[in-house]
Amino acid sequence: MNGPWTAGLQIRGLDSTPIADFLCGRCGAHKRVTGRTEVAKFTSTNPAADHAKRCTPTVGAA
Ligand SMILES: [Zn+2]
Repeated sequence: MNGPWTAGLQIRGLDSTPIADFLCGRCGAHKRVTGRTEVAKFTSTNPAADHAKRCTPTVGAA
C-alpha cells in the first residue's frame, strides 16, 4: 500500500476505523474522511461524480 496513490476512491481500515480517500487524477484534489458514519455518507454521495462538477484542472493532461 505504499507508493503513489492512484486516482479515485480508496477505502481502507474497515476492520477498525474506516478511512476513505478520494484523489482526483486531473487537478490533484484530495479529500479524506474517517469514521464509519462519515465514510458511508461520503461514498454514498459518489465523490468522483460530485467532484467532477467543480473540477478545475490546473495542469495539462498527463
Ligand atoms: Zn479534480
